[in-house]
Amino acid sequence: MKVMKFGGTSVGSAQRIKNVADLICRGGRNIVVLSAMSGTTNSLIEFSDYLYNRNTEGARETIERLAAKYRGVIGELYETAEARKEAQQYADSVFAFLKTFTKKLFTQVEAKIVVAQGELLSTTLMTLFLHERGVAAELLPALEFMKIDAHGEPDVDYIREKLTGLLEQYPKAPLYITQGFICRNSHDEIDNLQRGGSDYTASLVGAVLGAEEIQIWTDIDGMHNNDPRIVDHTSAVRHLHFEEAAELGYFGAKILHPTCIQPAKFAGIPVLLLNTMDPDAPGTLIDNVPENGTIKAIAAKDNITAIRIKSSRMLLAHGFLRKVFEIFESYQTPIDMICTSEVGVSMSIDNTRHLGEIVHDLKKYGTVSVDLDMCIICVVGDMDWENVGFESRALDAMKDIPVRMISYGGSNYNISFLVRGEDKARALRSLSKGLFE
Ligand code: ASP
Ligand code: MG
Repeated sequence: MKVMKFGGTSVGSAQRIKNVADLICRGGRNIVVLSAMSGTTNSLIEFSDYLYNRNTEGARETIERLAAKYRGVIGELYETAEARKEAQQYADSVFAFLKTFTKKLFTQVEAKIVVAQGELLSTTLMTLFLHERGVAAELLPALEFMKIDAHGEPDVDYIREKLTGLLEQYPKAPLYITQGFICRNSHDEIDNLQRGGSDYTASLVGAVLGAEEIQIWTDIDGMHNNDPRIVDHTSAVRHLHFEEAAELGYFGAKILHPTCIQPAKFAGIPVLLLNTMDPDAPGTLIDNVPENGTIKAIAAKDNITAIRIKSSRMLLAHGFLRKVFEIFESYQTPIDMICTSEVGVSMSIDNTRHLGEIVHDLKKYGTVSVDLDMCIICVVGDMDWENVGFESRALDAMKDIPVRMISYGGSNYNISFLVRGEDKARALRSLSKGLFE
């Protein structure tokens, strides 16, 4: 059994729902995880914002607009009047239910119920469409098996027990559909796995069932080993280690979020990234199999700020770094790259909301300087420290570019450079040439 997850844009219109139906029907007896149709989650959050602000008119308008969109989709999706009627009745009941929230006290609990309707809609419309086509797909309600504990962490044993139980109830179903993103919390209230959480659902479902594979389908062209907008000759990345995928995830490479990868990684279930626009392309496989001595990809992240603090007091002192880190922590600002010497520390951040305060507080401990508009360039691959030659090749490729920081040895899979934003394109091209050609 495989898990096939489709994101919001992949089910974003009647035509796309039909395409996904084709794909899942040729796939066999698998579990299909769907996001809400694109734009729906945002509209539901907007609806909630109006209700928090007690603006019932804004809320009603938002919901009317969304209801009209679904009427259009339903009109186009189904062939028979009967199926169309059933789908429209379901959608009407959802929108009528949503409107009841304009009349009561609105809290976070209600907002979670509201946002859950997106995935409930997409999966119901898909299941009805499959039924119309004569495929007796079974809709497995995520709210009956997906659960998080008091710390917001998935309750894996509960999920496994309930999901296996549900599957056993429908042993003959040719296909199962379920909602991504939504779950229940420790109070048994409706909750969710945070924005983009459908990938997390897929990873958890695959892990608890020991699935053969987890497929993540999106509508974007597969992963490239460098930015194709900047570098001429990029090639597709066919295989990544989970750790390499996690490194790249930070760089906004169109890849799973690192936390979503965890369950699959620990269960050793391969994750395959596939493209709904080109379903027969091989995609990118992510698993626990290392490829010795290969460099996989280069990625970049813009708008990085570097902060340096220099102090002779740091020399031979202990506890200095803790004080520095505490300042960042008190402003909830994550540090990305870090380099230290005996008398100074450089750190990079991408959230500059509290930059002024951070710099102010750091001045207690040393001389502070800031560089804006920097860019992190990261080279990902098998960078085990015992391998020889890779760091020197990467450094050699960077020889004409001013480098502000270098980070190596933090993991076995990455070497990162901090350069000026204006040098990014040059650095990417030069690394591409030095490492891939
Ligand atoms: N629909 C949710 C969101 O937009 C979950 C997801 O798409 O993964 O964040
Ligand atoms: Mg999404």
